[in-house]
Amino acid sequence: MVKSAYPSIHTPDAPSAAMPAVPNPRRLMSQFNIAFSLMSIIPLLICCYLITVKFFTINVLQGLNGFYFLLAVVIALLGLLVGRVVIREIFQRLVETNTKLDRLNRMQAHFVNNVAHEFRTPLTIVKGALDNLNDGLHGALAQEQTEPVEMCRREINRLRRLVDDLLDIAHIESGKIKLSQEEVVLQELLSSISQLFTGLLKEHGLTLTMDVLEAPARVTADRDRLHQVFVNLFNNAMKFTPQGGLTLRLRREGQMYRIELEDTGRGIAEEDLDRIFDKFERVGSQESEGSGLGLPIARDIVELHHGRLWAESMLGQGSRFIIQLPASAS
Ligand code: ADP
Repeated sequence: MVKSAYPSIHTPDAPSAAMPAVPNPRRLMSQFNIAFSLMSIIPLLICCYLITVKFFTINVLQGLNGFYFLLAVVIALLGLLVGRVVIREIFQRLVETNTKLDRLNRMQAHFVNNVAHEFRTPLTIVKGALDNLNDGLHGALAQEQTEPVEMCRREINRLRRLVDDLLDIAHIESGKIKLSQEEVVLQELLSSISQLFTGLLKEHGLTLTMDVLEAPARVTADRDRLHQVFVNLFNNAMKFTPQGGLTLRLRREGQMYRIELEDTGRGIAEEDLDRIFDKFERVGSQESEGSGLGLPIARDIVELHHGRLWAESMLGQGSRFIIQLPASAS
């Protein structure tokens, strides 16, 4: 059984799935100027304090004392001026680099989107033709032909899934994804998903334990997208659990619902826990197929619903994926 004290990786409190907009560089520069001017007042105030409060008299500025005082003020002002120029330059470079990175990110998302689109149509055509061959639409296949046709169908399906994942990522990152807003009862969604996996779980000799809240757990969400998230988590749990089983829990925590999918599988090393939500990251031995895009997409979708998705795990003992979603205001 999986222990409860897993190391965990948490998402930030106010997550945002879509690419964050880069702040206006001009606004940033004026904010910097204001901040620096305010900082520069400090030595001036210290001077005023020394003269008016500490020594009570302007006489303190006479003679050698006054010379040293003036020298100190000049040096402080020069330091401020030089410091301002240097910091301003560094700041400006950071703003420029940030803007460039943002542009590159958008170009990359655009490129991935275009390429994936271009791949999709021919893949659909090839898949249709292979399905027809397999269904005997062009005559019965000889025994030695069935295996290569089946292999091609498997690979085409894998490629289709990859292309769909790439399109999803591109849509999410460019902020183009549109979520529908329906009332979803989590118990219904989770039970339909568990039914979907009943056959496969049996085939793999795995059990599924449901520990689900009774009162209807209503959330406002895009049903299909949430379905996609849970299917991905179930698929992973099954892929990486050679024996034992899965446990699905649903609880209410204040204004949020907490859904946990726990498995008794191979687990994830602590140092890998934060990486598995990055694009194309796959950890541990990779004998199973996968693109490394499922979890980043799942996290993005959950965050677009103002929720959180994170993992807790212990190597060799199992993993737990936790989703928090805001309850509908009823
Ligand atoms: P993939 O298509 O490779 O499954 P994901 O983004 O869904 O891509 O998962 C990324 C990686 O996270 C997986 O390759 C695997 O190394 C790890 N992982 C995900 N879920 C589990 C799990 N339940 N148990 C162990 N490792 C997992």
